[in-house]
Amino acid sequence: MSTITDYKIHDIRFPTSLTGDGTDAMNTDCDYSSAYVVLLTDSDLVGYGMTFTIGRGTDIVCMAIKEVANRLLGKNTEELFADMGKTWDHLLSDSQLRWIGPEKGVIHLATAAVDNALWDMFARARRKPLWKLVVDMSPEELVRSMTFRYITDAITKEEALQLLKEREGGKKEREAKVREVGYPAYVTSAGWLGYSDEKIANLTREALSAGFNHFKMKVGADQANDLRRGKLIRSLIDDPALLPSSVQPRDPESEALKGKNAGPTGSVLMIDANQVWEVPEAIEYVKTLKEIKPWFIEEPTAPDDILGHAAIRKALEPHGIGVATGEHAHNRMIFKQLIQADAIDVCQIDSCRLAGVSEVLSVLLMAAKFGVLVCPHAGGVGLCEYVIHLSLIDYIAVSGTMERNVLEYVDHLHEHFVAPCTINANGRYNVPSNPDEGYSIEMHKASIARYEWPNGTYWAERRAQQA
Ligand SMILES: [Mg+2]
Repeated sequence: MSTITDYKIHDIRFPTSLTGDGTDAMNTDCDYSSAYVVLLTDSDLVGYGMTFTIGRGTDIVCMAIKEVANRLLGKNTEELFADMGKTWDHLLSDSQLRWIGPEKGVIHLATAAVDNALWDMFARARRKPLWKLVVDMSPEELVRSMTFRYITDAITKEEALQLLKEREGGKKEREAKVREVGYPAYVTSAGWLGYSDEKIANLTREALSAGFNHFKMKVGADQANDLRRGKLIRSLIDDPALLPSSVQPRDPESEALKGKNAGPTGSVLMIDANQVWEVPEAIEYVKTLKEIKPWFIEEPTAPDDILGHAAIRKALEPHGIGVATGEHAHNRMIFKQLIQADAIDVCQIDSCRLAGVSEVLSVLLMAAKFGVLVCPHAGGVGLCEYVIHLSLIDYIAVSGTMERNVLEYVDHLHEHFVAPCTINANGRYNVPSNPDEGYSIEMHKASIARYEWPNGTYWAERRAQQA
């Protein structure tokens, strides 16, 4: 039994804007960053958590983390773990902090970092990776760990319990299967907007030989440029000669690929506009990219515009193009409405925008009830480390299926983590299996010392060079 006694907060920024990594039509100069928190106790038990940011403003999130983390000081960890839903309510129930949300913006990002750190600590206390901690819970305990506030018109506690009980039977088999084959992934890092055609072609070939078969490209800054880059990527991923010798072309009409506009080799292309368009503009623009056969358009417009997404989805349906969103859907109520309004084909939960594991569980349950595919958002820094846990929870305990799912994978910055995510030879995520890795987000101390803003050695050296 431990008591939470203190915390450490770090503002960590990586200079990714120098290489064009992460560039899209909206975010032109990302310095991938982490507002990082370590919860400390009066024993050896610790909890690591973070939320993802892209540079300036990370210090503001860190200030908010301090306010939220203060709510845990003096608390007994076993009492917190015994009812994680109640603990989540406690984190969100400071009425003065609520005013600067509620449940959105900086304060919600900060709550995500703290709730994630607490779940990490819970998993470490039980010596299980986070996903295993959750899938081993009874349906009753899992329901107790989530939040139902403001979503009972879409899913009740009783319905969630019923759904989880129905999935109990196959959990062991699904766990064994995914440990063996890995979890399906897709690759984004070939298609950043700031990359040259040559770099895109090289990275696409590399991704093909690494076994990937779903690829995403950034669009929305220039139509002719998008069409040219899209044709370039399609020409490579549709070419059977470029498949590695161990991989057979996949049937575009198979259950896993049906409706995804897969090409002759079974490869799928997705496009992502990062919110740049008006609703009518989104519809017209995406229609002009029909030739490159995208499965879906991601974030076509403002992330809060639920009815706008519904209108876009309705207009693109006859053209066989779906709609995906979620990385900026700031709470479970937005996902509830996206589902209620038939606005999305694919639900892209974000491990740091939703306020931690407890709120993510609520969205997973809603998506499962309504049969919406969950393909979490990842990339940045730390998101890939996080989301493999969430997709494993979804497959093993909640939706019971992974055949049509693909989890985003971006090959940046994994080297800064003590237990980085890894991909197998078939382009699928390996299952995190170290009993002491928690939620896999602990960063190397050397990385923190180098990239902490503003006085880490990297930033100090760069300032000295510029002076
Ligand atoms: Mg995106």
